[in-house]
Amino acid sequence: MQKKILITGVAGFLGSYLARKLVKEENNLVIGIDNLCTGLLSNIKDIVNKNNFCFIQTDVSEKEIIKSKQLQGVHEIYHLASLASPKFYQAYPLRTIAVTTTGTQNMLELAKINNAKIVYSSTSEAYGDPEINPQSEKYWGNVNTWGPRACYDESKRLGEVFCYEYYQRYKIQVKVARIFNTYSAGLRNDDGRVISNFVTQAIKNENITVYGDGSQTRSFCYVDDTIRGLLLMMEKDQASGEIINIGNRQEYKIIDLAYLIKKLTFSSSQISFQPLPEDDPKVRRPVIDKAKELLGWEPIINLEEGLRETISVYREKMGLGKNGELKMEN
Ligand code: UDP
Repeated sequence: MQKKILITGVAGFLGSYLARKLVKEENNLVIGIDNLCTGLLSNIKDIVNKNNFCFIQTDVSEKEIIKSKQLQGVHEIYHLASLASPKFYQAYPLRTIAVTTTGTQNMLELAKINNAKIVYSSTSEAYGDPEINPQSEKYWGNVNTWGPRACYDESKRLGEVFCYEYYQRYKIQVKVARIFNTYSAGLRNDDGRVISNFVTQAIKNENITVYGDGSQTRSFCYVDDTIRGLLLMMEKDQASGEIINIGNRQEYKIIDLAYLIKKLTFSSSQISFQPLPEDDPKVRRPVIDKAKELLGWEPIINLEEGLRETISVYREKMGLGKNGELKMEN
């Protein structure tokens, strides 16, 4: 039997990667939605003409979406639509709130009507600027509602509340993934997040912009690992009604990340210290015991390995050879 799978945010970083993986299975009919606010059609150009892929340009926060004929009979929903980079969610705060609250409720309604399973992409930002490190799912977080990150952090948290209520009231098979910093060359060069910024800057031998003194930490998960985690969440019944951290345990100071990327790119870039953005979390590292126990999941790609791949693909995208040499025309 054909499986109908909906991916919201399909032209975004995670959505396009997941779609490419799922269309490989001929039995899957993948329907991708995106409003192209930050997603790019170029991210799905290689699958857009496939027989088992269908793209709809619309906004998940529109109420009519629930009634869309194309979405009826859906079996699985990956609700990944989101403006995940601080640069973008701070530029579009109200859209960010709408997609994660109303958009999430719409997707839960769709799941309810169709008895579909749904994975909601929440975030490590649900922990805000955490007072404990590492963070397990039991930690309630430390989020400022009166600041530039609130539109993202707090609306993602409210999205989780919608999931909870639909799970309790309607027994929806909903699974909440708290996704920690994920990267690959699939991030737009101008995405504004740290790995895309540093790698792009290092390849161009431009200043590497470290915000603050670089002592703040993050834990970086390569996209292959994150997507494998999301697929397992969809598959495993044990994940229903659960919040699960999906992230890598290796924690790095941002300054050390800058030097590592400089080394791996053989770059002559200098480090340039810039002001630390308001409410920038000081630490972030997941406890992933729950993912291990319920999904049998843990990341297998370490940062250096993931960065080598990221650097190589960015070089290709930027018109340079894998080792940095300029490509010659034939
Ligand atoms: N950061 C930085 N330079 C940059 C971009 C980001 O030093 O050019 C820092 C940022 O202040 C934060 C960390 O890198 O401490 C991760 O930022 P990012 O925007 O990638 O994601 P976040 O985890 O903050 O959502």
